[in-house]
Amino acid sequence: MTSDEIAELIGDKPYRGKQIFRWIHGRQAESFDAMTDLPKTIREKLKLSHTIGSYALKLRSVQSADQTTKYLFQMDNNTIIESVYMSYRFGGSVCASTQAGCRLGCAFCASGKSGLERNLAPSEICGQVYAIQREKPRVGHVVLMGSGEPLDNYESTVRFIKLISDENGQRMSRRSITVSTCGLTPRIINLADEMLPVTLAVSLHAPDDAARERLMPVARVFPMRELLRACEYYADKTGRQVTYEYTMIKGVNDSLSQAKELAARLKGTLSHVNLIRLNELEDLDWNASSEETIRRFADTLNGCGVKTTVRRALGGGISAACGQLRNHHNNTYSR
Ligand code: SAH
Repeated sequence: MTSDEIAELIGDKPYRGKQIFRWIHGRQAESFDAMTDLPKTIREKLKLSHTIGSYALKLRSVQSADQTTKYLFQMDNNTIIESVYMSYRFGGSVCASTQAGCRLGCAFCASGKSGLERNLAPSEICGQVYAIQREKPRVGHVVLMGSGEPLDNYESTVRFIKLISDENGQRMSRRSITVSTCGLTPRIINLADEMLPVTLAVSLHAPDDAARERLMPVARVFPMRELLRACEYYADKTGRQVTYEYTMIKGVNDSLSQAKELAARLKGTLSHVNLIRLNELEDLDWNASSEETIRRFADTLNGCGVKTTVRRALGGGISAACGQLRNHHNNTYSR
């Protein structure tokens, strides 16, 4: 709940709502009794009628050599999800999940292999960040790139952004939050209209509809032309450049002619391409493009005036990299 909603709930002045919000999101109080500057009558009333949102319960974590830590969290109703902490020069970043499982079924991604279990509540998305913050220094960024499709759980995603950036809570800069989507075009337009200047990352993975449809079923519903138009609308409305994610798959989407085609489509737009080397999954026939191919693909795009970088791969050894978060669990964790 926002502080205004809390004030309304208890039928009190706005500042009371802020006070309670500060306890929950700023100081992460786990009980109403901890809110010592709140009149006892209010505390008692709240105790009878409400609980403090479900914090993610850490079950296990495992750390890789590159300081990436993968967490296994238990949510309400025994739902289990994964989140990842990554350490960068500019500070720590949490990769949070927005759904348990996913129903978009991209061919190269493990998260959708067993379909969607359920949407996560805003408190459960915040909970992942708060639980990790308790043990890691300086979490300044959140990327909604864990399991699930943030824009398929739109209400929770927007509410999460508002809660985590609230001046009475964590005050995370909205510019430090990335929403990654497989391309739900109407939702991109909705998000632009919210005027939350978060970073929008769009999973493109191909320069044309035919190649894209092979990889992502969603491409059959939302063709690229409309998708790119929605992204331009987002950039216009928020002034933020859009990131296009492009997973490099050997012989599928990594030829130089495909690089040129992509460049032709993106040239002149407020954008940036981020190439991701395919993280190979056991049950998949596809292979990652070579480093050399990725470098040449990036050079071609840059040469055509489309800003392109290659994403540093983190968390590979612990199955915590892009596309490796699943809805069922192996034994890579230690307590
Ligand atoms: N549903 C959102 C966020 C999830 S994943 C989305 O589709 O954007 C974050 C990124 O990892 C996406 O760009 C996704 O396409 C990419 N990804 C998924 N599986 C991958 C794999 N096996 N190797 C590399 N990247 C992958």
